[in-house]
Amino acid sequence: MIGLLVDQEYCTGCQSCAIACQQEHKYPSGKSGVRVTEHIYPGKDDKPQVDFEPFFTTICDLCRERRAKGTDDVPACVHNCQAKCIEFGEAEKLIKLMENMKRPALYIK
Ligand code: SF4
Ligand code: SF4
Repeated sequence: MIGLLVDQEYCTGCQSCAIACQQEHKYPSGKSGVRVTEHIYPGKDDKPQVDFEPFFTTICDLCRERRAKGTDDVPACVHNCQAKCIEFGEAEKLIKLMENMKRPALYIK
């Protein structure tokens, strides 16, 4: 089993992953295999806290064609993540990496 692992702690909400996916698959504007949502809530001392949460949708195909072509061995979103907070690979490897992450989100396909 393969999948994606995001350390949401370091996601800046830059949307590069969503744009890279859209370009890779030639999707129309607004369609992407990953959506990044923003959560604003009162944090410490009631100061506003903003967290970002990338979510891989059902149309995410883990960039099978891109990887089969040999363009790259990682998906477009992983390659283009500005914060380098998305990992791709075997579930076993990702589960081990989770141990050292603050806010991991694992997606196994
Ligand atoms: S793995 Fe590929 S298809 Fe899935 S969200 Fe990332 S770029 Fe899109
Ligand atoms: S490219 Fe990386 S840092 Fe930017 S929104 Fe996507 S997951 Fe977050």
